Amino acid sequence: MGVKLIEGILKKAENMQRLKDDEIIKLFKIEDKGDFNRLMDVASQIRNENRGSIKLTSTIHLTNKCKITPKCKYCGFAAGTSPQGYYKGFSKKNDEILRAAREIEKAGIPRVSCSGAHGYNGKHAIRAAKIVKENTSLELLINVGSDLKRENIQELAKHGTDTICCNLETINRRLFHHLKPGETLEQRIKVCELISEEGLELSSGLLIGIGETYKDRIKHLRFLKRFKSLGEIPIMGFNPYKGTPMEKHPACPLDDQMKTIAVTRILYPHLRITVPAPTIGPENVKFSLIAGADNIATIIPDNYPIEVKGVGSPHIGNLKRILKTIKSMGLKAEIKHEKLASPIPW
Ligand code: SF4
Repeated sequence: MGVKLIEGILKKAENMQRLKDDEIIKLFKIEDKGDFNRLMDVASQIRNENRGSIKLTSTIHLTNKCKITPKCKYCGFAAGTSPQGYYKGFSKKNDEILRAAREIEKAGIPRVSCSGAHGYNGKHAIRAAKIVKENTSLELLINVGSDLKRENIQELAKHGTDTICCNLETINRRLFHHLKPGETLEQRIKVCELISEEGLELSSGLLIGIGETYKDRIKHLRFLKRFKSLGEIPIMGFNPYKGTPMEKHPACPLDDQMKTIAVTRILYPHLRITVPAPTIGPENVKFSLIAGADNIATIIPDNYPIEVKGVGSPHIGNLKRILKTIKSMGLKAEIKHEKLASPIPW
């Protein structure tokens, strides 16, 4: 790929000019190391100019008992799907949710994602929102997929929920229905619309490396523009879980994840771009920051009181290690205890 060609595209990105689809595809197809580094520099620079410090988001898994059948082909989270996941079914009790939320707050992490499997009409989400918001000052993201109706969203809002996440994963309809035969894309789009109509911040992300094309990703990223309250885009690289129908499907390569994060940053300079530590790999978090992300999810403090595994991969991010990574890159983490933000004494 000609250096000049890529440089011309990146100059347009730097100047906030709209990129055409074929220009974005050229960014996805970059192979030259110099071009790749330049793409990362542009994405980081756009993040630094438009976003504040790096957000940290912890997690509480409410239940893995999912009533969707058949199960999504990649899922290792739901009960019975993968020996690498939780496998055994669980539903967290109120006091377990409370203890986990308090420990997250005590560690200085500003935000928690409470997520759970499908089939409860949002009831488990509402219970968790009430517990978290009545007892802590944590910012709260709720993610129960498409398991929400308008009245549930209104109730979540009433309890002070800050963000609701409903990932479309892919908007390639054929692929969606192949991978998620128990759900419909329409239902997920509908929930995103409801969240937006109710004026709550919407988080809606892409699962990448599942057989979608670059064109699918670009179409998906542009599709998200229709949701007025869109505030966050998670980019989740696929990792195969043992025992699932996709156990032999290759993991999404790191450079592909980085390019997708960078392209998302170019298209959405002002939005929160989230990378879950499990999907990129806790050891690779720095590469998500290099690519322009500004929120690392599934960060767990040392004294976390309940067993936790990641979604998308069983690995999780350790708070101390992630803080060290952020600091080593000259970035500032958003953490409640100033002494942890910088300098870090280890
Ligand atoms: S990905 Fe979510 S909706 Fe699909 S089977 Fe797993 S828990 Fe259920």
